[in-house]
Amino acid sequence: MTKKKKTKKKIKNKALVAEKNEEAMVEGILEGSPDGIGVVIVRLQCGCKKMAAVAKDGEPASKLIIYRDQAESICDKCKKDDGDFMRVTEAFIHWSKPEPNDKEKEMINAKVLGTMPVTH
Ligand SMILES: [Zn+2]
Repeated sequence: MTKKKKTKKKIKNKALVAEKNEEAMVEGILEGSPDGIGVVIVRLQCGCKKMAAVAKDGEPASKLIIYRDQAESICDKCKKDDGDFMRVTEAFIHWSKPEPNDKEKEMINAKVLGTMPVTH
C-alpha cells in the first residue's frame, strides 16, 4: 500500500472584480451619481451587462444601464426582456474608494444582491 499524502488543495476563490473595460463604465456611472458609493455589476450569460450605482442605504443611486461590450446595442434577448435574471451569471458590487466598512458592505450586499436569484 502506498502512503497517501495529504495534499492541500487550494481552491482559488475567483474574486469578482471589475474588468478593465467595466471600470471605465463604473467610473462614468459614479461620476454621474454623487450619492453612489458603489456600482452593481451584473454579468449576463448572453454577454450583456447591467450596471447601476447604489447609495449608502442600498437604494439605487442611478438609472440601470444595460450595455454590451464592443457592440452598438444589446442582444435581441435583452432588448425583449431587459436582461432577465434567468441569464445572470455573476452579480457583485464594485465599491468606490474609500470603501464602506464590512458591516455596511454586508448590509448593502444583502439588500442589493440578496433578493437576486443568481444562477451558475
Ligand atoms: Zn443580452
